[in-house]
Amino acid sequence: MTNSRKDRHNQAIEVTVYTVPYGNVLQAEMKIYNRAVFLDLNGTIVLPLKQESLDELTLIPGADLAIQRLLDTGFLCPVVTVQSRIEKGLFTASEFQSWFTNFFGNLDLDVKGPYVCPHRYDHPCLCEKPNPYLYEQAAADLSIDLKNSYTIGDSPQDVEVAYRFGGTGCLVRTGWAAQDRVVEEARSAVFIGDTITDAVDWILIREHENCDQDASADTRSLRH
Ligand SMILES: [Zn+2]
Repeated sequence: MTNSRKDRHNQAIEVTVYTVPYGNVLQAEMKIYNRAVFLDLNGTIVLPLKQESLDELTLIPGADLAIQRLLDTGFLCPVVTVQSRIEKGLFTASEFQSWFTNFFGNLDLDVKGPYVCPHRYDHPCLCEKPNPYLYEQAAADLSIDLKNSYTIGDSPQDVEVAYRFGGTGCLVRTGWAAQDRVVEEARSAVFIGDTITDAVDWILIREHENCDQDASADTRSLRH
């Protein structure tokens, strides 16, 4: 017998699996699954899209507050990013890791990762978007329920990957998708907004509405 329950307040999903190994003795195992909003970096949280050095990266106004709201709601926020300049030799993987730790540490944002594809665009690899490989790795590391999770990014690949892992993809127009041609390519986008702030507004309203629907369904079932 399997019983599952969604707890919208802490955004975690408890799945209780009852097994009957000996006679009629019930044994319960409980696992907690987290929900995530996977965040792209360049063009979504910082600009420019292609930096020559890590010092050039600056925060898109409001991105820090938007991320803090997701964290306050109980979402995990893994950052999944392509940094092909690592393979090109402009900076090393460990320099990028240090930049990431300092940047988000200074903002006091407890994001997860980074989950990085360091490869050049012309070198096909397993970790490049929209392959779900890095997202699945984060899901395994952090017990994330992918199907109840989101992505926010500025490229068609950022939303296509959500479609592939069964989640919900949000496109923002601060980076590549500032061009209408790129928006048209992002057919997997469930939401399209100007900035990460718009995407977070949409996610939190959607969550609130789902929560209300769950509550009214519960009320209906109580009446029967
Ligand atoms: Zn890669």
